[in-house]
Amino acid sequence: MREKIVAGNWKMNKSFEEAQDLVSNILEIKDQHGKLKNTSVVLIPPFVYLELVKDMTAETGIFTGAQNLSERENGAFTGEISASMLESMNIDFCLAGHSERRKYFGETDEMIAIKIVAALRHDISPIFCCGELLSDREKGTHFDIVHSQLNQSVFSLNPNDFANIVIAYEPVWAIGTGVNATSGQAQEMHAFIRELVTKKYGKNIADTTTILYGGSCNSKNAADLFAMPDVDGGLIGGASLDAEEFTLIVKAADALK
Ligand code: PEP
Repeated sequence: MREKIVAGNWKMNKSFEEAQDLVSNILEIKDQHGKLKNTSVVLIPPFVYLELVKDMTAETGIFTGAQNLSERENGAFTGEISASMLESMNIDFCLAGHSERRKYFGETDEMIAIKIVAALRHDISPIFCCGELLSDREKGTHFDIVHSQLNQSVFSLNPNDFANIVIAYEPVWAIGTGVNATSGQAQEMHAFIRELVTKKYGKNIADTTTILYGGSCNSKNAADLFAMPDVDGGLIGGASLDAEEFTLIVKAADALK
């Protein structure tokens, strides 16, 4: 379903106490701002804080997400976390295909496809991350790269399953660098992605697909990026670690459309 979402990916940051503080500060600031009109907030902490975040945000309307999941169902896979475990904790979302997982943990498009199917089988909405490297953009192959990532990881889903995924366009050169895509660059790629979804699944599904932007999004650039017609919110890394900053980004999304 197309909705406005601002999701905070904490990555491997925060102690238990700091995680507690961050959530209570977000809740406090969010309350001061009053009820959100039409934006869903998703907090994506490290696995070990999922229960804490879930408990602290109970009855607030805030969703929780995991940063990763295993492509296996269960069993002797030391250190892994399965989709069924996340389902048993009522976790709503799960990242799949984040560029850091691709780069540091060797995740391929094929592995990501399996993770996405595992998540969907357990009623968890995957947030599928795609995006090109700087070298791809310099060569002018960024559209091809994103097309190929979509083809290999999500375009073999049936329409019902596809309707339950969220796409996050995250140009790798913008992640954690302080250099965000311009609103024009983001819109161009988001429109391209929506067009591909239209060709594959039809206009109805394309019009209801949520496509987030991620990559050095902060309270200063969020309003411009989110004002683009095909940008439905953001996947926020660094700026989600600060309650004030994150809440301003949420407000920027909620003020629009
Ligand atoms: C991310 O990791 O998904 C991300 C967008 O990071 P940052 O906002 O720090 O660029």
